[in-house]
This record gives sequence, C-alpha cells and structure tokens, in this order.
Amino acid sequence: MKTLEELYRGKAKAILKTEDENLYVMHFNDDATAFDGIKKGTIKDKGYYNCQISKICFEYLEKNGVPTHMVEPLGEREMLVKSLKILPVEVIVRNWTAGSMAKRLGLEEGKKLPSPILELCLKNDELGDPLINEYHALALELITEEQLQQVKEYTWKINDLLCKRFDEAGLILVDFKLEFGLHQGEVILGDEISPDTCRLWDKETKEKLDKDRFRRDLGKVEDAYKEVLRRLKNPL
Ligand code: UDP
Repeated sequence: MKTLEELYRGKAKAILKTEDENLYVMHFNDDATAFDGIKKGTIKDKGYYNCQISKICFEYLEKNGVPTHMVEPLGEREMLVKSLKILPVEVIVRNWTAGSMAKRLGLEEGKKLPSPILELCLKNDELGDPLINEYHALALELITEEQLQQVKEYTWKINDLLCKRFDEAGLILVDFKLEFGLHQGEVILGDEISPDTCRLWDKETKEKLDKDRFRRDLGKVEDAYKEVLRRLKNPL
C-alpha cells in the first residue's frame, strides 16, 4: 500500500495516510514513554513485538465477533487499518488491583478483584487523561448514549476473550486500556493491544511481562515483550 504523508505521530506509533481515504497505515516504533511523557527511552524491537502481539489479538477478537480497525498486517512493524475518528474517551478494564487505581485508593497491588472494573478517562495528554465517569462522558458530549452502550458491550466481550487467550499463554491480564473510534458511523476497536497497554503477569510467578518493567526500571524490558509474543504464538 502506497503511503502518503503522516497524519499523526503519537508516542509509540505513527498513522500514515494512504491513497484510499478509508485506510491508514499504522507504524509501531521503539519509543517508550511513561508518567505522561516525563520518562523517555527506547526498547529495542518493541515496535515489532507490539505490532505482532496486536495482530494476534485483533485477529482473535475479529474471529470472535468484535470489530477492530485492523484490515491486514503489513510486514514486521505495520498494519493496514480502517480510518477512524477516535472517541475522546479511553476505556480501562481492571481484573486485579495495580497501577494508578491501587495508588489512588490505597490498595495493595496484586489482588484479584471479585468482579472486573471498567473506568473511563478523558483522552487528553495535557491533563494526564483524567478519570471521568459515564455522566461526564455524556454531559460533555464525548460520546453518545448509544455509542457508550456499544463500547461497554464490546469491552466486556474483549475482556472475556483476552483473559482466556492470555490465560492459555500462561499470563494474567491484570488490566488494560482500549480506544474505540468511528468508521463510517460504526463503533470499532482501534489503537493497539500490547504490553504497552496491558499489564501481563506470569500466571505462576506473577513476574511482570509488560511496560511496568520500563516504568519501574525492573530490567529485562525487551525480553518481556519478546516472551509475551513467544507465548501467544506457542500456547503452553
Ligand atoms: N494505560 C495505557 N495508556 C495510558 C494509561 C494507561 O495504555 O495512557 C494502560 C496501562 O498500561 C495499564 C492500564 O491501562 O495496563 C491501567 O493503567 P493505570 O491507570 O494503572 O495507569 P499507569 O499505572 O499506567 O499510570
């Protein structure tokens, strides 16, 4: 697919226009940021691992009835995606206590929740993606009622499917972030699903195999991304 100019450059990905206005190319790079961009670095071959991990997840979700923006993988670090108007609401699902929720509520990390939690955040880097609730989302007209219902329905389905898929790979899906967008008026899943956007722990040892290794300077960062891809390709 012939690409035209860059439409958008994010922290770890770039979106390129193509000759077809309905299609973009999403390119994954090795840049890593944390704490609202204060911590910066690169993780060798992260772009490759995240692209391949996202591809496996998107294919699995599509096969099980969740529409995603992926049209087809293009080489090692790129995928052809449907053009999306991203909704300004990020969705976070938590199955175990960790990260910002544990900190905010004074909880110990690593407790399995009796039922999963769905959080909404305003997609705004300058404000640090603040937590909002459904009333904010509707009153601030970030999303319509109908779109919100669709987002929630897909999110719960995605959580069930991904928990199962990662479990088969010996991994606990602790929490993760999703972004949805509109393509020809329909809500579909966008962005990526990778160790940048998910917390993934080894089922037995609880070893962290995700971006927390970078955020918390735990070492063996690249190995963690590599291991997640290896396990998804060769379930236990
Ligand atoms: N997350 C993300 N992008 C963000 C914020 C969070 O991908 O801008 C992911 C993060 O990797 C984790 C989950 O969403 O898997 C919950 O993140 P949390 O709110 O705990 O924030 P963090 O600890 O990452 O600041």
